[in-house]
Amino acid sequence: MRVEWVPLNDLGRAVAEQGSGLTDAVSRVVSSGWFVLGPEGTAFEEQLARYLGVAAVAGVANGTDALDLAVRVGMPPGRTAGLTAANAGGYATTAIKRAGYQVVLADVDASTHCLDVPQVEAALADRPDVGVVVVTHLYGRLAPVAAIRAVCHRRGIRVVEDCAQALGARGPDGAAGSLGDLATFSFYPTKNLGALGDGGAVATGDPELMALIRALRQYGWDTKYSVRTPGGCNSRLDELQAAVLAFRLPALDAWNATRRAILARYAAAAGSRVRVLPADGPTHVAHLAIVETAERAALADAMAGYRIRTDVHYPVPDHRQPGWQDAFGGPRLPVTEALAERILTLPLFPEMREDEIERVCTALERFG
Ligand SMILES: *Cc1c(COP(=O)(O)O)cnc(C)c1O
Repeated sequence: MRVEWVPLNDLGRAVAEQGSGLTDAVSRVVSSGWFVLGPEGTAFEEQLARYLGVAAVAGVANGTDALDLAVRVGMPPGRTAGLTAANAGGYATTAIKRAGYQVVLADVDASTHCLDVPQVEAALADRPDVGVVVVTHLYGRLAPVAAIRAVCHRRGIRVVEDCAQALGARGPDGAAGSLGDLATFSFYPTKNLGALGDGGAVATGDPELMALIRALRQYGWDTKYSVRTPGGCNSRLDELQAAVLAFRLPALDAWNATRRAILARYAAAAGSRVRVLPADGPTHVAHLAIVETAERAALADAMAGYRIRTDVHYPVPDHRQPGWQDAFGGPRLPVTEALAERILTLPLFPEMREDEIERVCTALERFG
């Protein structure tokens, strides 16, 4: 008998489980005849703002647009650069570049893989042009936003939290998305809260910044056909996606708990050759199951032997990307570079079956 592969993710299972609740949300929008910037979008924006404990949320077309808009409205006058990490998939770098600013890269903490506060401080020391720092809550783990804010606010720099992987993470100071000056979200289908297509959002407690985001996402209009704000674009969350997200958000905390429980089983099964990045409590929503090992190729082979899919998030740091012929100010990023060789991603999604979880645990145990 051919054993089926354990997939990294299987979005069809969530759709099958959610059944008529999901299709009812879709049908409601289809029969309403209102598809862009309507009541579903407003309701979801309010629902997400309440969930996060922030003053306001604006839906946009995707997470990269959310970053672009947040960086643009967050950049103080006279500043021309944004700082971020090089190990987070390149989304913040893409957005900062597209917004027309230079990118400064800082190294990450070897244990958490999130921006390292002393490294951020060191990188800012000789870059007075930096006006925005984008902090990614990588793999679902809450990054040290309060410490980075303290470093940034002394220098007139705004902090943008990239919450694409961390919706639902909560620390003692509040939820991911309520800790920075602005926060961005992606509802790409594989995220912990996924749409049936692309979607994104920006959150902020600053009403002036929110008004700018709302203007820029729709051509820079203040009222219909009247451009008041320069630099506008078209980036809107459509009604279908908003209705799907509103239906799914109430279940998010339970899905995140299931993700954490699966990751804890991997951590318990792993031997001394593998370190599973832990997700112990509510500060981590276990978006991805990342392990570290000096023997990545051997571990990937061992997993494939058990017909378990693996991947690498992310294999090429931003300053090594062939398409970015950008010196990035010649950063020294030894931790980022070493981790890129050591990380491997294992399957993790709330609808994993017990036999699949057990197979991953067995493979980890046998590898040692
Ligand atoms: C997915 C992701 C994004 C980008 O979101 P899109 O909706 O795909 O544009 C940004 N940042 C991080 C950390 C992500 O994981």
